[in-house]
Amino acid sequence: MNERDSEAVAAQLVAKGYTLAASEAVADVVLLNTCSVRDGAEQKALAKMQNLAAEVRRNRPNVVLGFMGCMAQSRGQELIDKLPDVDLVIGTQKFHRTADYLDEILAGRRDKVCDVEAESGSEAAIKEHLLYGNPPANDAPRQVTAFVSIMQGCNQYCTFCIVPYTRGPERSRAIPDIVAECQELVARGVKEITLLGQIVTSYGRREIGAKDGESAFVQLIEAVHAIGGLERIRFTSPHPKGYGDDLVEAYGRLPKLCESAHLPVQSGSDRVLKLMHRGYTRPRYLSIIEKLRRVQPDIGIGTDIIVGFPGETEEDFEQTLSLVREAQFDQAFVFKYSQRRDTPAASMPDQIPQSLIEERHAELLKTVNEIVARKLQRFVGQTVQILVEGPSRKNPARLEGRTRCNRIVVFEGSERHRGELMDLRICRASAHTLYGDPAIVGLEAEDRE
Ligand code: SAM
Repeated sequence: MNERDSEAVAAQLVAKGYTLAASEAVADVVLLNTCSVRDGAEQKALAKMQNLAAEVRRNRPNVVLGFMGCMAQSRGQELIDKLPDVDLVIGTQKFHRTADYLDEILAGRRDKVCDVEAESGSEAAIKEHLLYGNPPANDAPRQVTAFVSIMQGCNQYCTFCIVPYTRGPERSRAIPDIVAECQELVARGVKEITLLGQIVTSYGRREIGAKDGESAFVQLIEAVHAIGGLERIRFTSPHPKGYGDDLVEAYGRLPKLCESAHLPVQSGSDRVLKLMHRGYTRPRYLSIIEKLRRVQPDIGIGTDIIVGFPGETEEDFEQTLSLVREAQFDQAFVFKYSQRRDTPAASMPDQIPQSLIEERHAELLKTVNEIVARKLQRFVGQTVQILVEGPSRKNPARLEGRTRCNRIVVFEGSERHRGELMDLRICRASAHTLYGDPAIVGLEAEDRE
């Protein structure tokens, strides 16, 4: 989501006549988009800003430095008070004002600006929607996959989570606007679209509502599915409680909807799930996975888990370990609980000591990694379809793409494969990555001839 927001602000600046700088060393303006979900992310952004102040500002005193995003929203003026090199702090509901504020600072009309006011009502929603739209065209190679924001904010109020305070209440875009943005992306060569929101399954609940037993979210998927030339649809993040039968059934019915679901479970203990205010139980969660696998047996299921939530006992943690074994996730992100300001969990009794959080984190990660690696090994010898996204992030001499169930496959290929749907034979698997061999598929094709 932050990547998408950064693109949108860059697009806004380009529309106002700014150009994208090749690096922060030559930029006149450097804005850091920030995340507040865990303390580690905030510390990283603060350290980065101190580094920019020391390195970039020293050589070029007129450079404008700013924070945007969730940490800007939650810390506000405090950032300018603590880091005097910061000129601009812009909250999550004020992205549309970024260019105006920069113009004022660069023209010398204002010294520093901090704007983290929440906007309200339909006018604010319209302003925000001006922000959507495509990233600026530059010399970058053709984009194959794209994120499309379908909503902002969150109403769930999980007790550990800062997002409802930094992103505000849920507000959804209209289906025709989203479809128009997707059509434009497809016309530029995009083949796969990921619909984005904090809790996408809540999309349009108030604004659009259900029709003929179909949630607004499923109506949206159907509308995007109808776009010619689009090959694949994904979405993130859904909430387990939003997985109604209409959505489960959509996986069996809509061929462009990839067999992949990221279902954040957070804990395997009903007691902890209740304290977290998650709104589902362990049996209900497992029943959703079962239903999805009934409709699409090879669906890739990912999750997020938090260890060390306040009051988590050894027994609760055992429940999480057993859920992980039972669910057999294809991918899992394991997070150490991080106390966030103003969240109910931050003041709950029985905060878990950091050493125990580390211990549980290591144990759960080991269990998860063993399962994920074992499941990946099963792909060796199989032929899978991938969408080629571009050079591999780890080794740019190779190419990479994703399977429909969201696994990364690396292979020897050339730039001309970018954007192609290719069948690859998997020849090897490491802990998180599959390696494919198009040559073998080529040989088979010759054999067939
Ligand atoms: N909206 C999604 C949901 O809750 O279903 C997840 C979005 S959140 C940005 C990504 C993940 O960060 C969460 O699923 C959770 O596992 C983790 N997270 C959120 N708050 C956290 C905290 N205070 N400490 C550790 N992890 C946290």
